[in-house]
Amino acid sequence: MIKVVKFGGSSLANAEQFKKVKAIIEADESRVFVVPSAPGRRFSGDDKVTDLLIHMYETAEKGGDFSAELEVIRGRFNEIIEGLELSDFSLEEEFREIGQMLQTDPQKDYTASRGEYLNGKILARYLGYHFIDSREVIFFNDEGNLNSYKTEKVMSQRLKECGRAVIPGFYGLGKDGNVKTFSRGGSDVTGSIVAQGCRADVYENWTDVSGCMVADPRIIKNPDVIRYVTYRELRELSYMGASVLHEDAIFPVRSCGIPINIKNTNAPEDEGTWIVESTCQKPDHLITGIAGKKGFCSVLIIKSMMNAEVGFGRKVLQAFEDNGISFEHMPSGIDTMTVVVHEDEFLHKEQKVVSAIHRLSSPDSVEIESNLALIAVVGRGMRSASGTAARLFTALADAHINIRMIDQGSSELNIIVGVENKDFENAIKAIYNTFVTSDHNEKQD
Ligand code: ASP
Repeated sequence: MIKVVKFGGSSLANAEQFKKVKAIIEADESRVFVVPSAPGRRFSGDDKVTDLLIHMYETAEKGGDFSAELEVIRGRFNEIIEGLELSDFSLEEEFREIGQMLQTDPQKDYTASRGEYLNGKILARYLGYHFIDSREVIFFNDEGNLNSYKTEKVMSQRLKECGRAVIPGFYGLGKDGNVKTFSRGGSDVTGSIVAQGCRADVYENWTDVSGCMVADPRIIKNPDVIRYVTYRELRELSYMGASVLHEDAIFPVRSCGIPINIKNTNAPEDEGTWIVESTCQKPDHLITGIAGKKGFCSVLIIKSMMNAEVGFGRKVLQAFEDNGISFEHMPSGIDTMTVVVHEDEFLHKEQKVVSAIHRLSSPDSVEIESNLALIAVVGRGMRSASGTAARLFTALADAHINIRMIDQGSSELNIIVGVENKDFENAIKAIYNTFVTSDHNEKQD
C-alpha cells in the first residue's frame, strides 16, 4: 500500500504544525511520498509565504531594495527550523542563492516557488526522507502546460529508485530551463502527479478542515461534511464556486483510478471526504452538496415560431461569440431562449451584444436582467429519487424566494436555480434546511 500525502500551507505554517504532520506520517507507514506547500497563515491576518515571495520579486523587478523583505521570509523559515530544534541544519546557502538571483536575474516563478522548495528541504530533513527537487521530475511544454508524458516517465522512475521522499509542490521545469509554477494552489496538482507516478493506492490531501462541506460554512453554520463525492459531482460543485481542490488536480489521479481523501491535519482521526470515480456508498442525504455564485445576467430572446427557424440558436450565440463572451447556461422555452452570462464580462458590452442579436437573428424582443445568482443543487442520488425538484421549489416558495430561472442538467446530477442576488444566502439556507437539517430530524424521530 502506498499513500501520497500532500499538506497545505496551514498544515505547515509553523513548527507546531510540522510536528502534527510528522505524527500523521509516522502513524501510517504507507505514507511514503510527501508533497508540501509553502508555509501559509499562522493566524488570521498573517501573510502566506508565497504572497511575500511574489511581493519581494516585484520589488526586485522594479530595481528596489528587497533585503528587508528577504529578511522577513528568512525569519519565517528560521522560526520553523528553531522550533523543530534542527540545530545542525540551515538554509543560509539557499537564501544567498535567492538573493543573488533577485539581484541579477529576477524571475517571478522561480521566486514564488521557493516557499515550497525551502519548506520541502526542512520537512525532508525533519522526517529523514529523501528530497527530490521538483524541477528534476515535473516538466512543462512550450505552451506552458504540463508535459504529462515526460513527467510521468521521469517521475515514476525516480520514485521507484528513491524510497521515502519529499517532493515540493507547485513547480517544475519550464521548457526554457527555468523554474515554472502551476497557478496558485498548484501543490494539489503536484500531489496528484506524484500519486499517478507511483500508482498510489490513495492520494491524501491534508488541509485545515475535515473535508468538503455540503454548503459554504460562511452561509451555513457548521455544515455537514460530505463523506463521498464523485469526480463529476465535485466538478459541478467547484464550477459553481465551492473551492476544494485545484481544478487540474483531478485529472492525473482520475486517469488511473486513484481516490482522493481530503483530511484535516488538526483532527486527523476525522474520516474526511473521499473523492472517487464512482461509488455504491449511499449519500448521507438526497443531495450531495449545494454551491452557488452571484453576479450573473440573463438575456431573454423572444421570437414567435423560433422553433421552426433552422439556425436561430446559432445566430443568437454568434452575437455573444463575436463579442468574446462565453455563456454559462442556456435554458429555453417555447418562443424564448435565455442566455446566462457573467455580469462583469457582459455589462460593458451589453448594447453591442443586443444590437448584434437583432442584426443576426431578427428577434421580436430582447430583455436583459441583472443581479442574478445561480445555485446548483448537486447529487448523484437525485437521479433515482422522485420529488426532488418539488421539495426544492417548495423550500424556496416557503422562504418567499422568487425563482427566476430553472435548469436541470440532462446528467440529472444537478438542478440549477436562478434567484435574485439579494435572496442568495436565504435560498441556500432554505435548501440546506430542507435536504439536510430536516433529514437529520427525520432520522432521529
Ligand atoms: N503556495 C502556493 C500558493 O499559495 C501553492 C499552494 O500552496 O498550493 O498558491
